Amino acid sequence: MIREWKLQPRSRKCAACAQPFEEGDTCCSVLHPNPDEPSAIMRSDFCRACWKQRPPNGMLSSWKARILPVAPPPPLPLELDIAEALLDRWSPPQTEAAAHGCLILTALLERKKILIARSSFEEDGKAFTVYEHRRSGRTFAIEQKHLALDDLEKIQAQVMDLLNRAAEDEDLILQAEAPDAEQ
Ligand SMILES: [Zn+2]
Repeated sequence: MIREWKLQPRSRKCAACAQPFEEGDTCCSVLHPNPDEPSAIMRSDFCRACWKQRPPNGMLSSWKARILPVAPPPPLPLELDIAEALLDRWSPPQTEAAAHGCLILTALLERKKILIARSSFEEDGKAFTVYEHRRSGRTFAIEQKHLALDDLEKIQAQVMDLLNRAAEDEDLILQAEAPDAEQ
């Protein structure tokens, strides 16, 4: 079973002192069980001062990042816009195929420096990498699957094909099926 992750993007303010984050600040982020719903994982963000004073208990994963200017983002090549839209569509993954698709898309977006791998953790014997969108602060926890090279190449080819076709016809994004190694 694939666990459902509902990770919030970076908050606008510190979870402890409520001071708004500003450009250039260091944000200390942590994934931890939601106190109201222990089976769910949530993200909390702290300013540097609060973090030093009282790092939270029960952390699954944590990282620090400097806050970049939000606007104006440089225009992305269309293909990368589509890759982000597909990642939004397939994440958090509900199926094995969607998990494969997310794996390929996050690798692509990381290579293009749109996402950064911030930290990693293990849960139920599965290894996850936490990716953060450099500008928007959105968070994705992606299971790092070990796929046979053949399968990986098949899935990658399907994703690249989808990106190319969606560049011609953006409606495709709305119905895009996740890639499947069996195809
Ligand atoms: Zn604070």
